[in-house]
Amino acid sequence: MKKSGAKTGGKGRGGAGATPAMAQYLELKAANPGYLLFYRMGDFYELFFDDAETASRCLGIALTKRGKHAGEDIPMCGVPVHAAEEYLHKLIQAGHRVAVCEQMEDPAEAKKRGYKAVVRREVVRLVTPGTITEDNLLEPARHNYLAAIARIRATGELALAWADISTGDFHAAMSGADGLAAALARIEPGEILVPETLLEDEEIARILKERDCAITPLPASRFDSASGKARLKEHFSVAALDGFGGFSRAEVAAAGALLDYIALTQTGALPAMKPPRREDTGAYMLIGAATRASLEILRAQNGNRAGSLLAAVDMTVTSAGGRELAARIASPLTDPQAINARLDAVGWLHGEPDARAALREALKQAPDMDRPLSRLSLGRGGPRDLAAIRAGLAAAENIANVMTGFAALGGPPEELARDLATLAESDGGLGASLAAALADEPPLLARDGGFIRAGFSPELDEQRALRDESRKVIAALQAKYTDMTGVKSLKVKHNNVLGYFIEVTAGNAKRLQEMKETFIHRQTMAQAMRFTTVELSDLETRINAAAARALALEQEFFARMVEEVTNAAAMVAGKAAALARMDAHAGLAELAARKRWVRPAVDGSDVFFVRGGRHPVVEAAVEKSGEGPFVPNDCFLAASRAAAKDPDPAPPEGMEPKAIWLVTGPNMSGKSTYLRQNALIAILAQAGSFVPAEEARIGVVDKLFSRVGASDDLARGRSTFMVEMVETAAILNQATPHSLVILDEIGRGTATFDGLAIAWAAVEHLHEVNRCRALFATHYHELTALSRRLDSVATVTVKVREWKDDIIFLHEVTPGAADRSYGIQVARLAGMPPASVARAAEVLKMLEESEEQNRRRQLIDDLPLFSAAASLAPAAPAARTPAHLVALEEALAALHPDEMTPREALEALYALKEKLGKQ
Ligand code: ATP
Repeated sequence: MKKSGAKTGGKGRGGAGATPAMAQYLELKAANPGYLLFYRMGDFYELFFDDAETASRCLGIALTKRGKHAGEDIPMCGVPVHAAEEYLHKLIQAGHRVAVCEQMEDPAEAKKRGYKAVVRREVVRLVTPGTITEDNLLEPARHNYLAAIARIRATGELALAWADISTGDFHAAMSGADGLAAALARIEPGEILVPETLLEDEEIARILKERDCAITPLPASRFDSASGKARLKEHFSVAALDGFGGFSRAEVAAAGALLDYIALTQTGALPAMKPPRREDTGAYMLIGAATRASLEILRAQNGNRAGSLLAAVDMTVTSAGGRELAARIASPLTDPQAINARLDAVGWLHGEPDARAALREALKQAPDMDRPLSRLSLGRGGPRDLAAIRAGLAAAENIANVMTGFAALGGPPEELARDLATLAESDGGLGASLAAALADEPPLLARDGGFIRAGFSPELDEQRALRDESRKVIAALQAKYTDMTGVKSLKVKHNNVLGYFIEVTAGNAKRLQEMKETFIHRQTMAQAMRFTTVELSDLETRINAAAARALALEQEFFARMVEEVTNAAAMVAGKAAALARMDAHAGLAELAARKRWVRPAVDGSDVFFVRGGRHPVVEAAVEKSGEGPFVPNDCFLAASRAAAKDPDPAPPEGMEPKAIWLVTGPNMSGKSTYLRQNALIAILAQAGSFVPAEEARIGVVDKLFSRVGASDDLARGRSTFMVEMVETAAILNQATPHSLVILDEIGRGTATFDGLAIAWAAVEHLHEVNRCRALFATHYHELTALSRRLDSVATVTVKVREWKDDIIFLHEVTPGAADRSYGIQVARLAGMPPASVARAAEVLKMLEESEEQNRRRQLIDDLPLFSAAASLAPAAPAARTPAHLVALEEALAALHPDEMTPREALEALYALKEKLGKQ
């Protein structure tokens, strides 16, 4: 949690005795406490006092001094306006907030008021982590949400509202404290607004502490539901909010506070927000922050996108499609009907490769429209944002046309048909109007003009011609004056102070001074002298007038186009959303086709069946490294006894559908991979994607819990074991019969007996109380005895084969239990010194025979069914055994010496030698 960052540079600094400019600075600074003030001075944003010290440290720029205040030097640093975005980015990333103060008039204007008059300045924007709109500050394929939490004290209802002002997405949902933590983990806001009073609530404070984002406490009065309601009604111009879907008081309070804060930071301008969508929190699979991190859904453990599930499945071609896909993967649905609607769309595109290819090709021409639209409606857009809208609308029309041909073929399913219809709807002439006015490749900024297409406005063309013509005349004048004076080096030049002038070297100046009737002296320099003529100044006046008129006309057209776009914001946003959804569908269809994924059957049952399942990320890694192929594995869980007894579909041979599967197997055998792949398959299926398997039936999972792999959290003062216990507690407290629980190695971080006891109790709790589907990997082979005692528990093991003293990992999950840990073999494979390995084997033998061991056996025997051989072998990292040894062993096993002639035996020997030699 980063609490609102910046120190207040002007705090406590009185304006008395300050220069007028400093007095203005101090006033603006005092009006924006908590923000670093970017104070515009010409081509720089300057920072003073503590702000300067903070910024120079954070940005690595020089700290200087400028004048004195109250008898002391004023520390100062500055960033050039043209590079300001880059510096803003760094400051925001470091948790600061910035108030951007601009000059609101030309310095020349101010001078007219008197020599000492200060240029009028105003804070035009507050930049905070949750309210940025610049492309450079945002990740293209990720939303940047601003969230607000509100609680109605009388009823205790808690709600969350969140919006992305760069795209206009706006949502609200009710929440309990558990739901709040999971919702924040799902949304990953960049900034959270919270009433100061709510921070006093320990549970809320703890939840917020877990988030690595900016927390902005605000006075509770800003979360008033009555003013929130008024604000929402006013912003969306509606008489009642019911049309958006019956909001609760807490939701209205949160959404209102959110809009209020956006208006505050954007100093009044509000972006094109979509009407708020009320979300039923039960509509999404609940996945807590720890599970998200352990399954590496949007990001790998190291924080990078590479190596995550999202990176492995993202084949979208637009950034809006990328955002849509990320949202789907981060928020899998729970309603089978909604999931199947998505799967229908993906399935249709999967089955129509030509339509898919044509759609994806056309989508490549569709730029992001959401963010340009938001910038335009905030008055922060430029000609390129208009061009993006133009290109997006053209792409939408093109896609509607391209797809009509295919649509006629097989009738696309509802979800696709609806989006196609949205794309085919008229844009009210907006696209054509932008195409007519806007140049093909307009500049970034509207400020300097040059973005209106030639031929669009006769008046503009005329002024431009005049301006450009006159420039040519100036070139001709230079030639004329050179002839007249005979000074070959004479030049007509331009600068901002003098405008156009004639320049000759000091040595040649005499020639012009003699021709007083034509050349009027303007300036004497050390090496040169400057002149003008009546003709030149007339021409300059004409050029300036034409250029100013041309620019004014362009600005007028720009304003008109921006207005046209913002008036049509809902239509543009609707088409943008349809394009994003189609891209997500087509990307998933392409993925399914390329990787041979299948459509899962998704229903309301409590079955989790996967035949030939694979881990999308590990499979790619194994294949890339040449260690492959990846070994597919089955899984069949059924929470209810009825479903387990009469399984549908029929399970593969030898497989026992049960609520809980205990998974045993040595380190490195592939247990974690197997556990994770099943969790990922549930996520993919409910996100509406095909899955990496040969067949799958997924009864929707309401909550997914995954505790795989140990990690400590020293930053929050929790040891590995403590983290493990906190997460296990959350699972046992929250899992329902529709949940899926993935648990790996519970209780490994403590003494053997404690760990075994905790793991034992956890399995019993899952079985008796939670009654959910669970995969439970363990090294405690004693636990497999539970499968005999608890009738909804089955055991499976990841197969390994022993070969001499080595083990060979087969990565194959089969019914049964591992009888030993193979820890010492794994340690040997990992390269532990042979002497240590031998010693470990000795110690193990001694332990197994020791009194301690006997006592332990006795104890285990006292617990009913606790009879499997115990092992104290330590876990150790492992390496793999070469596959050729397996082949060799198999070849040997196939030989029957008694039935061979000597010659055959000799040949077999040669064949074996050859097999060995090939490796
Ligand atoms: P530990 O107990 O040490 O955590 P583990 O049994 O959980 O080990 P994993 O981490 O799942 O083992 O897998 C180890 C390695 O084995 C993976 O990185 C991968 O290279 C390989 N592997 C796992 N599953 C398979 C599979 N099904 N097919 C091929 N290779 C696999």
